[in-house]
Amino acid sequence: MAAAIAAVEQGCSVMLVDESAREGGQIYRQPWEGLSVPGVGTMQEKSRKASLLARFAAIRDRIDHRSKTTAHSLFPGPELQIADEFGSERVEAGAVILATGVSERAIPIPGWTLPGVMYAGAMQALFKSTGATIAKRVLIAGVGALPIVVGAQLADNGVNVVAVLLLHPLRKMAADPIGLFQGRHIVLEGLQYRRSLRAKGVPILEGWAPKRIHGEGRVRSVTVAKVCSGGNFVAGRERSFEVDAVGLNFGFTANSELARMAGADCRHDPLVGGWVPVRDHSGMTSVPGIFVAGDGAELRGALVAEAEGYIVGALAAATVAKRTAPDLTLLRRELERNKRFQLAFRRTLRLPEGVWKWADDDTVVCRCEGVTLGRLNRAIGDGHLTLDAIKRNTRCAMGWCGGRTCLQAVAGYIGKPEGEEGLKPMRARPVARPVKLGALANLRDSK
Ligand SMILES: Cc1cc2nc3c(=O)[nH]c(=O)nc-3n(C[C@H](O)[C@H](O)[C@H](O)COP(=O)(O)OP(=O)(O)OC[C@H]3O[C@@H](n4cnc5c(N)ncnc54)[C@H](O)[C@@H]3O)c2cc1C
Repeated sequence: MAAAIAAVEQGCSVMLVDESAREGGQIYRQPWEGLSVPGVGTMQEKSRKASLLARFAAIRDRIDHRSKTTAHSLFPGPELQIADEFGSERVEAGAVILATGVSERAIPIPGWTLPGVMYAGAMQALFKSTGATIAKRVLIAGVGALPIVVGAQLADNGVNVVAVLLLHPLRKMAADPIGLFQGRHIVLEGLQYRRSLRAKGVPILEGWAPKRIHGEGRVRSVTVAKVCSGGNFVAGRERSFEVDAVGLNFGFTANSELARMAGADCRHDPLVGGWVPVRDHSGMTSVPGIFVAGDGAELRGALVAEAEGYIVGALAAATVAKRTAPDLTLLRRELERNKRFQLAFRRTLRLPEGVWKWADDDTVVCRCEGVTLGRLNRAIGDGHLTLDAIKRNTRCAMGWCGGRTCLQAVAGYIGKPEGEEGLKPMRARPVARPVKLGALANLRDSK
């Protein structure tokens, strides 16, 4: 949205393609048309949302806004291919800005594929879109701040949140006081959520993680355990909770497959979303005319995503129009301040090596293709040590999610340090997202 606003303000003709029915992305997600849903989020977040939506409303009539439309393929040129429910189009553009965000990730544990186990952010997305809370008794677990945020938002809306588990205490950020200071307003928002959980008597267990999820046909209870700094479970320190649902969030994977499909160079950093495109100062990838902004470029949160959207939008527009870029000093300053805070925040996202021992041989790692850890370990033992080789040998990551769910876990099980061959991203091929065959067959006039 921010990139579209900036590009229009620079006089460019803009097409905005979004899978969602309504604008807002993940954090500023709006309820489905016609539904009335209580707003969630702190006062500060609601005010940021209102301000961005108002700026977008002011330019909406000046752009070609394609909602409920998927960008499924991208090639150098750049040429973007899009599809809605009924048909598809090829779009040639002076520049393509990818602001595709991130997908959540979980660490596979026994029972994590039972119905009732969801990503924590998906629980939040469901509530923001429809007002539905999926269960009466919920346990939320993961890293970073999202478990606290989602736990508090669900508890505020009548859900019995039996516990929130954090692998690392959030006070780890205090080891970087400068970063913490730069993001003090975000820290205050986090404290509001924490206070809200405490006021409702929800236990926040720091240094704990779910060990096994139980149930037949659906989740009934969960065993949680204390975790040591290496990520292994501590013997004898276990508790059990009866639940109807479990929300997991152990970080995010960048939705970088369109950039990879176009041939953009990527680097690997599990803390900021896995395989993220390498960019220059304007946000342009190694493929001319293809830019990336927001979390899809590197996980740094909503404030960075918005500021960067304005910057990359303005610079991409200037490149296309062959004009001098506007003065972006203030935005860049804000961006740097928020990025500095994200360095402190990264300390809460680290996944120690022990987490790759949480699953057993029968645990499914690739949900789309039903590939278990036992099957994966056999392939690794047979010498299949690259992601492409694992995919060919086991079908891991061949399903409809394109590896967004399992690939980072597979990289963890291969256990190659950063930068080695084993962590080269899997080749991304069309189509990046599921598209109906009928829509592909109905190729409309293209622009
Ligand atoms: C589930 C979830 C919950 C989150 N909850 C919080 C929270 O509570 N608090 C917080 O501070 N941060 C939260 N975050 C992080 C926060 O949402 C991001 O930092 C911020 O939204 C990043 O903005 P973005 O524009 O980069 O991506 P997003 O806001 O994710 O926007 C990406 C947009 O791209 C669209 N899209 C993606 N791929 C395609 C495609 N191929 N074709 C067409 N459209 C596509 C999506 O529909 C979406 O509208 C959450 C993230 C996730 C994934």
